[in-house]
Amino acid sequence: MDKMNFDIFEVIDETSNVGYLFIYNLTTGMTRWSKAAVEYFHLQDTYSKDLKSLFASLVHPQDLEKFNRDYALFSEDAKPHLHSNCYLRNNEGIYVKCEIYGRNNRDNTLFIGNIVVDEAVIGYDSVTQLPTFYEFLNVLKKSKYSNNKFATMYIDVSHFHAVNSVYGYDFGNKFLYALASELKNLLKGKGKIYRLEGAKFAFYLNDRNAEVIQQLFWEIKELVNHFNFEGNVISLDIHGGAVVIDSCEVDVHAYVSYLISSLEQAKDNRTNDLVIFNDEVEEKTLRSLAMLETIKHCIFDDCKGFYLCYQPLVSTVNGVVIGAEALIRWRNEEYGEVSPYQFISHLENHPSFYKLGLWIIKQALQDAKKIMKINPDFFVNVNVSYTQLEHENFKNDVLTLLEELQFPPNHLQIELTERIRNLDLGFLKKELNFFREHNIKIALDDFGTGNATLGLVCELPIDTLKIDQMFVLDILKDKSSQIIVDTILECASRLGIDVCIEGVENQEICDFLQQYPANYHQGYYYSRPVEFDVFEKLVDKCWASKQPLLIKETVFDGLNVQSILSKMPGGFFIYTANEEETIIEINETVMKMYGCNSVAEFAELTNNSFKGMVHPEDYSRISREINRQVASSEAEMDYVEYRIVRKDGSTQMVRDYGRLVHVKHNDDLFFVFIMPMNQGIEKMKW
Ligand code: C2E
Ligand code: CA
Ligand code: CA
Repeated sequence: MDKMNFDIFEVIDETSNVGYLFIYNLTTGMTRWSKAAVEYFHLQDTYSKDLKSLFASLVHPQDLEKFNRDYALFSEDAKPHLHSNCYLRNNEGIYVKCEIYGRNNRDNTLFIGNIVVDEAVIGYDSVTQLPTFYEFLNVLKKSKYSNNKFATMYIDVSHFHAVNSVYGYDFGNKFLYALASELKNLLKGKGKIYRLEGAKFAFYLNDRNAEVIQQLFWEIKELVNHFNFEGNVISLDIHGGAVVIDSCEVDVHAYVSYLISSLEQAKDNRTNDLVIFNDEVEEKTLRSLAMLETIKHCIFDDCKGFYLCYQPLVSTVNGVVIGAEALIRWRNEEYGEVSPYQFISHLENHPSFYKLGLWIIKQALQDAKKIMKINPDFFVNVNVSYTQLEHENFKNDVLTLLEELQFPPNHLQIELTERIRNLDLGFLKKELNFFREHNIKIALDDFGTGNATLGLVCELPIDTLKIDQMFVLDILKDKSSQIIVDTILECASRLGIDVCIEGVENQEICDFLQQYPANYHQGYYYSRPVEFDVFEKLVDKCWASKQPLLIKETVFDGLNVQSILSKMPGGFFIYTANEEETIIEINETVMKMYGCNSVAEFAELTNNSFKGMVHPEDYSRISREINRQVASSEAEMDYVEYRIVRKDGSTQMVRDYGRLVHVKHNDDLFFVFIMPMNQGIEKMKW
């Protein structure tokens, strides 16, 4: 290709923003592709030899015949132009609908072609009809190569979840649609708008003037502050981040991380709702960007500096640690201990993240195996980003790890956030069903924060919902949080899905939550996330100390033990209905009936088992009787009488009323009321 043609091509490539250009030298048979085309279609090189066979490798197999026909018209019939509509594979392995069009120059020495991706077909969000995050990335990639001067803005509508919870998800979706239409109107001629997750929107702006951007932000804020919709005035607020930089050197992922961090700064920063990131960024931001670069390098350096912490998942039935969530951390001499909030969202779109993701799973499985030696029922939750799920090797890589480590798949639960909504529902169903078929469990994390509908939960094979801590932290005083938690639990119970409540921070919240029948809790009240050696000791203590917990309040299957206890003056205890008959919880009355002053004394006296609570001469008779009664009535029993031996050696006759309860994660449990005989009571019905 001679120098002049080369120059012209460069110029056209840089100035054109529609489509992916290529130029084909009809004399030499060489094709030169624009940089954007090389990236978008993941081509080997900017030059290719055989145009037809290169297209053949990109065209969807179903379209190949049609494409060949169109190409034959151009090459064999020597028509000066080529026109074909077909699906081509892009760099994400997705087939997108494209229009290929081009024609020869006058002396038939060169052919200039353009591939336009039909945006109406790909990447549109079904709720708002706006293009998605992927399209946003695409436009950034293209702008980078075309050297366009542009700016971007990213806004988040705060407390959008309140709209969903007050008016329902359908309303929330319609609201988002209406808002998106209004935003599009506002933006006419000024740029383009994209929907990211939840109520977050990204704007591609033609004007880079900070004042113009600030003005647009105020207009959007005004709109959202008094949004008229279906006869309601809805008043919400927004925060925003914007990026206006000159450098074309930064890659798209770094660019997006600037955008995210400017939004995050705006949220932290109460006086300034829009934070603009420009070339004179504060040192702090630069430092955090430098840190991200170091983190990326560490991933390639055998995940140097990364480690996992574990936070227990505690059964609401018996207060035992039944599982744990693995949480990633990174530490380094210069930056100290770094929380995932500072890097995950910036990294998850970066190619290095996939490697880290696998490292996390492997580490978590290895650690969980050790815990399973103490508690064979133990399971581990691992957070998985949507970018991992999307990766074509992910499914196989997970299965390979499970096999390599001989890890039982049903003891692994992957936690996905609502951001998976960005993915195509059909794809998502297929992926999640794959995990279901292989017995791997799936939890939906941070439930209720974006606008993942309960509909999504019905459509996907979800095992657990994790109610976001946002609802829990203000549940004591916020009525709408109470309603949300209540509704989620009700729906989950009908769907047969487990519920984990996150953010159980203190005793007060924990006590308040007893009225909500969740399966398990997670939060600082039980334990902060801790490194593995500490976690191991914690589990060890919980399982091997053989020391029961003193009952605070236990709610189970609508059985509010505390309220029953308050109506009768008896002793109460719970034990596992297996051979060990380990006592899990007791109340103070039981402790006192045995003449003990502490739980430890009681545990020592009874060997912490039901067997140890009964006079040795009475035990086998009682045991037979309990089995007989339970077998004949499924769960309830009338009562049995036996002697107990107190700490001082004296004996006492008691009556006990028991009930067997089937629980999911542990052995079945026996709930028992125990009354000294001289305090005889009427037979109780539960
Ligand atoms: P998450 O998955 O929602 O994890 C729970 C976060 O809440 C953890 O923060 C945990 O320390 C914190 N937390 C737990 N109990 C309480 C409580 O009672 N009160 C309050 N205020 N917070 C509590 P952490 O470890 O900083 O993780 C932050 C986020 O980073 C996670 O949120 C998750 O989205 C992401 N993340 C962490 N590890 C990974 C990982 O391995 N992979 C991926 N993809 N994301 C991860
Ligand atoms: Ca999580
Ligand atoms: Ca969470």
